[in-house]
Amino acid sequence: MKRIAAMLLLAAAAPAAAQQPPAAPAAQLPAAAARQPNFDNVQIRVERLAPGVAVLFGRGGNIGLSYGTDGNVIIDDQYAPLTDRILAAIHTLDPAPIRFVINTHWHGDHTGGNENVARTGAVIVAQDNVRRRMSMEQVVRGDHVAPSPAGALPVVTFNEGVTFHLNGDEIRVVHVAHAHTDGDALVYWTHANVLHMGDTFFNGLLPFIDLDSGGSIDGAIAAVESGLALANDATVIIPGHGPIGHRADLVRYRDMLVDLRSRVRQGIAAHRTLDQIKALRLADRYGPPDGFISPDSLVETIYRSLRAPPGPAPR
Ligand SMILES: [Zn+2]
Repeated sequence: MKRIAAMLLLAAAAPAAAQQPPAAPAAQLPAAAARQPNFDNVQIRVERLAPGVAVLFGRGGNIGLSYGTDGNVIIDDQYAPLTDRILAAIHTLDPAPIRFVINTHWHGDHTGGNENVARTGAVIVAQDNVRRRMSMEQVVRGDHVAPSPAGALPVVTFNEGVTFHLNGDEIRVVHVAHAHTDGDALVYWTHANVLHMGDTFFNGLLPFIDLDSGGSIDGAIAAVESGLALANDATVIIPGHGPIGHRADLVRYRDMLVDLRSRVRQGIAAHRTLDQIKALRLADRYGPPDGFISPDSLVETIYRSLRAPPGPAPR
């Protein structure tokens, strides 16, 4: 129940966090801040996963951390009001500044701290489409999200992938196309054997596939297959949301997506309408009706995705 409440808050907060206009005069900022949810009670919890690798839980997307002699690298940075607490939590492990932020995708609950962390000297890195989508207005689940300020944008972007050789590890960042969005990246610590899936993996929650941002059911399944190809039974897997998981959790998640895709596809082939397919209650056994994403909403997303494959990325 607690988790569901947190996810609902996340749903409400994701667009709000990015709604500040890019060049708002200072006098308007308190009004923008007043629309944001209250982050006062959010605590950042650190969990060490391997030598030099940790995860931070707060509110928003789970944050991966590489630390050691070469400095700190973080994967995603949650919401702007949490930056001080996130940096304080990181500094309990390593007092060095953040050198790089890798964004797994553009959503505000993963990139909301970008501007603050960039101001401390960090370089923001993400797939090309992350910068494109952050640069222009977006719609997420019906809510308009204003363009991000210039200081929040990734300054190094890549198409297929990039590798960081830091802290005794080889950290591979791999783009997976049209999955949760069209700018997702998986991040894999080759030596530590830790994998950050971003929002291509919701552990213990029904997934959100953002069709308006170029996501798709086929790509979501392909992204999980890419993660499975990197992982073995010893891999520690950081999901975008939910607790730490392992390969078996990711296999179950893949099987759920494949099962739902094939059943919705059968419904379409049998000329059933969306309402008729929803009435089959195909996803009820995979999650509660009142979660962040309801079974109905997931079935509808898969239906829409199969009917209309994703278009090209914005220019
Ligand atoms: Zn997301």
